[in-house]
Amino acid sequence: MKDVLIVGAGFAGAVAARVLAEKGKSVLILEKRDHIGGNAYDKKNEEGILVHVYGPHIYHTNFEDVHAFLSRFTEWYPYSHEVVGNIYGKEIPVPFNLNSLDMVYGEDAQRLAAKLTAAFGSEVKVPILKLRESDDPDLKMIADYVYENVFLHYTMKQWGKKPEDIDPATTGRVPVFISRDNRYFTDKYQGMPKDGYTALFEKMLDHPNIEVRTGIDAYRRISFNEDGSIYIDGDAFEGEVIHTGPIDELFDFEYGHLPYRSLRFDWETLDTDSFQSHAVVNYNVTEDFTRITEFKKLTGQQVPGKTTIIREYPLAYEPDKGEIPYYAIINDENMALYEKYAKKAEKYKKLHLIGRLAEYKYYNIDGITKRALDMCKELC
Ligand SMILES: Cc1cc2nc3c(=O)[nH]c(=O)nc-3n(C[C@H](O)[C@H](O)[C@H](O)COP(=O)(O)OP(=O)(O)OC[C@H]3O[C@@H](n4cnc5c(N)ncnc54)[C@H](O)[C@@H]3O)c2cc1C
Repeated sequence: MKDVLIVGAGFAGAVAARVLAEKGKSVLILEKRDHIGGNAYDKKNEEGILVHVYGPHIYHTNFEDVHAFLSRFTEWYPYSHEVVGNIYGKEIPVPFNLNSLDMVYGEDAQRLAAKLTAAFGSEVKVPILKLRESDDPDLKMIADYVYENVFLHYTMKQWGKKPEDIDPATTGRVPVFISRDNRYFTDKYQGMPKDGYTALFEKMLDHPNIEVRTGIDAYRRISFNEDGSIYIDGDAFEGEVIHTGPIDELFDFEYGHLPYRSLRFDWETLDTDSFQSHAVVNYNVTEDFTRITEFKKLTGQQVPGKTTIIREYPLAYEPDKGEIPYYAIINDENMALYEKYAKKAEKYKKLHLIGRLAEYKYYNIDGITKRALDMCKELC
C-alpha cells in the first residue's frame, strides 16, 4: 500500500506526484493511456518529426514558481509564439494589432492607428465592446471588422454555435491590441521543452518514491462506499487519492455526462521543408477546420525535405464514439451538473480533485502546474 494514489499522468498528476515524492511520500500513478504526459504527450512520428499527439502545446507563464519547478526537468527552446489568421487568403497577425491594421486598411491605417492610440493609449488591449461604444465611426468600423473576420466564424466553428447563441459578454471581450508586438502571449517566460514534453515528464516522474503504471483504467480498481471510505481492488485505502480524470466517470455518470467539445485531427506529412509561414495559421473565416499547425516551426527541429502538419476540426463530444473530451463547455447548466458531482466528492475526505477533467475547467499548462504545486503544499 502506498501513501498516495494518483489517477492520471498529465501535468496535474505528474507535478503532484513529484512534489509529494520529494516530501517522502510513496506514490502510485495509474494512467489509462499507454503513455505518460496526458494531453501534452509528444513523440517522434515515422519521419522522425516530433509531434504533439493531442494538439499543439505552447508553454508560457508569468508564475516564477511554476517556471522554476518545470525548469528542473527540461531546458527550453526559445520559441515565441506568433499566430496569423488567414482571412480570405490574406494572413494577418492575431490577436488583431497595429500590424494587422496596416495589412487590412493600407494607406488609411496610419490615420486609424493614431485615432486608436489617442483614444486608448498604446501597448493596451482594448475590447471591441469599448470600440463599439465610441462615437467615432472609424473605431466602430474596426470593431466590426474584427468581430466579423477574426472572431465570429472562428468561434462558431470552435464551439459549434450559431451567431445568435454566442454570448455577448464573450464577444465584447475580443481585443484589439494597440501595439506592434505580434507575439500571441506576452508572458515573461515562453518556449518549448528542448527535448519535448514527454522527456520532461520522464524526468519529473523519475524518483524512487514514484511508481507509474500505464494502460490501467483506475475506475475499474477504485470504489466508493457511502460511509466515505475508498476501496482499491476491494481493500480499504487509507491514503490520499488525487484524481485528475473525469469527475462524472468517477461516479459512474450517476447524474449524466458532462458535455465537452472534442477535436478531430487530420495529419499530413509533406515532402517539403516548409508548408506555411508560421507554426500556427488560423482559418478565421473559411474552411471547416480552425487552424493548421506545422510542428517543426514550433520545436525548431531540423528535418530537411519533410514536414508534418495537422488540421483541427472541432466537433461535439460523443463518449460512445470514443472521442476525447477536450474543452469543458462552461455555462450555467453544465456548472450546475458539475456542482452535483463536486458535492458528492466532498463526502470523501481523502479524495482530491484536480485538473481540467476533475474540476471541469480549462487550465493552461502553467495554471494546472500552479494548482498542483499549491495543493501539495497543504496536502500530507
Ligand atoms: C487542443 C489543446 C491544446 C492546448 N494547448 C495548450 C497550449 O498551447 N498551452 C498550454 O499551456 N495549455 C494548452 N492546453 C491545455 C493543457 O492541455 C492542459 O493544461 C493540461 O493537459 C492539463 O493537464 P491535466 O493533467 O489536468 O489533464 P490531462 O493532460 O488530460 O491528463 C489527465 C490524465 O488522466 C488520465 N485518465 C483519465 N481517466 C483515467 C482513468 N479512469 N484511469 C487512469 N487515468 C485516467 C488521462 O488519460 C490523462 O492522461 C491545450 C489543451 C488542448 C485540449
